[in-house]
Amino acid sequence: MEIKVLKDILSANEQIAERNRQLLDSKSVFAVNLMSSPGAGKTSLILETIKMLKGKTRIGVIEGDVSSSLDAETIGKEGVPVIQINTGGGCHLDANMLSSALSNVPLQDIELLLIENVGNLICPAGFALGEHKKVLISSIPEGDDKPFKYPLMFHKADAVLINKIDLLPYLKFDTQSFSQAIRGINEKVEIFQISCATGQGIQEWLSWLLTQMSRR
Ligand code: MG
Ligand code: ZN
Repeated sequence: MEIKVLKDILSANEQIAERNRQLLDSKSVFAVNLMSSPGAGKTSLILETIKMLKGKTRIGVIEGDVSSSLDAETIGKEGVPVIQINTGGGCHLDANMLSSALSNVPLQDIELLLIENVGNLICPAGFALGEHKKVLISSIPEGDDKPFKYPLMFHKADAVLINKIDLLPYLKFDTQSFSQAIRGINEKVEIFQISCATGQGIQEWLSWLLTQMSRR
């Protein structure tokens, strides 16, 4: 019985996600769902992406948080449209939340929509939003065992960004075995090593992102 209820919830979510995608496509907006555990660097990556793509593509941001609008305020200073979703305790965004938020986003004025999901490595993977790509940020301080602990997240990602690579000399993290573990779960995934602090790998991430946008 519980399984049936969960299936119904997920299929209703899929339908709304499909409508979101149709809306985004009709406005030629490319949407990326950014997922990670808390503190892995979603907001920093969004800030870096906005700064580097200034003048190249018009960006809008949706900020999902359990509460507060701290990240939205930080991003708003960059002069891009930001819409905050507070989930009121909910641990992930769903398609319905995105649908409500989209009605407040100036879709005609943007080409790229960055959606910061709630910091959580479990259920965001199960809820499609209507995004075109899912990007997972994993950071060096979290340790290199995450693909084994949260395989669904790594299975669903189109790209994995290994962030805070500048901390490698100080922490125990085997990037090679980490990448191998991810590829064992997900053959097609793109993996980038980046640092939002030093800028390392950011160009590679951006060129992947722009390529995905142009192929849509
Ligand atoms: Mg954040
Ligand atoms: Zn959740």
